[in-house]
Amino acid sequence: MCGIAAAPTAEEVFVLLESLQHRGQESAGIVWVENGELKFEGGLGLVKDAIKKFVPKGPAIGHVRYSTSGGYSRIQPVYNKRIALAFNGNVINFKFLEHNSSWDAEALLMAITNEMNKGKDLFEASKEVLAKAKGSYSIVILDKKGRLIVARDPWGFRPLALDFPYIASETAALEDIGKNWKEIPENKIIMIEGDTITKESEITEPKTPAYCSFEYVYFERPESYFNGVNIHVSRVRMGRILAKEKPAEGDVVIPVPDSGRSAAIGFSRASKIPLDEGLVKNRYMGRSFIMPPGVREKIAMRKYGVVKDVVHGKRVVVVDDSIIRGTTMKRIVKLLKSKGAKEVHVRIASPPVRAPCYMGIDFPSKEELVAFGRSEEDLARLWDAESVGYLSIEGLRKAIGVRHLCVACFSGIYPFPITKEEIDQILSTHRD
Ligand code: SF4
Repeated sequence: MCGIAAAPTAEEVFVLLESLQHRGQESAGIVWVENGELKFEGGLGLVKDAIKKFVPKGPAIGHVRYSTSGGYSRIQPVYNKRIALAFNGNVINFKFLEHNSSWDAEALLMAITNEMNKGKDLFEASKEVLAKAKGSYSIVILDKKGRLIVARDPWGFRPLALDFPYIASETAALEDIGKNWKEIPENKIIMIEGDTITKESEITEPKTPAYCSFEYVYFERPESYFNGVNIHVSRVRMGRILAKEKPAEGDVVIPVPDSGRSAAIGFSRASKIPLDEGLVKNRYMGRSFIMPPGVREKIAMRKYGVVKDVVHGKRVVVVDDSIIRGTTMKRIVKLLKSKGAKEVHVRIASPPVRAPCYMGIDFPSKEELVAFGRSEEDLARLWDAESVGYLSIEGLRKAIGVRHLCVACFSGIYPFPITKEEIDQILSTHRD
């Protein structure tokens, strides 16, 4: 998961990237056009730390990065003398596109440049390469003439919104700068020159979409819309359905802030158990799931405080949006009990994550997933909780209400076949 943006000026891209910061905190970068040349500024860390100096005028693209392949130190946009690109996703067959590349962003850049070197124009070269790419990509490409290509993969895994000529991964980022938005459909490629859309087409023959259900569960800001569905509203529904599927005898419902809040509202409404704030998040710690290993564990230890008066002597139902490695939840149950919670019932507003994602999310090996090979009872024992209950896959589909969702990390059934060779390649480049 990453965030991308494009705008008529680098200054506006900077602002959009800050609005997309939750999608990646490992690195950030901007490329803009200055006197017919592409210029780059970027580095590790948050947008405000990574991007210090840039010329505010001139068309630009930008990126916030949460690494899925290529290691932590790599920064997008990637660029050469002719073009720059920033993308959100994971191209599984990148070696097929460009065998000399060591990661997918570089492969796309090299392959598109190679096609341009053969005489194709920017639009045709981009379209030809993207049509061969297998996996997820929402992408912006800028050339030194200031022309912009915008595209979303044929499965539509990742979001991408536009208020021409402003582009952002999430609708909320465009609203932050006072824009309207419409979502760019899957399998669409557009070329923008100045303030005109000059070319537009399908990338390849239509495929059955596979919108990432994790975008609804965790990634996107509650204000955002994905496929016309508001993220907060879908999460409230996840909580409501969870309360019906996995009821709990409790005195108080508390969310794991912040991403569990919407689902906790839904759980409380459906169960009639009062909602309260029992966990307080240190806002300056960042999102532990999108941090490198090592950093992640340290953050999990210091991330939450407990409001003792809310939980003391109570049967607490703690609601989180999802569990990947389980490090944070174990710590939360311990914290709640240390502050006098009589019982802790863990409720998760998504199904157990039991399979790797090869489409852009960082949980590539089964062994890292706490729910892999474990039942809800096993997890209750592991976390010292009185009970654990997850939402079903059907419940998740119903809550989101969008046809053609990808649920591969829950079901193990992928939207397309993935060969062992491709998996080995992903694993070998993963966080190299
Ligand atoms: S496997 Fe899971 S995280 Fe990956 S694209 Fe599908 S739903 Fe999203």
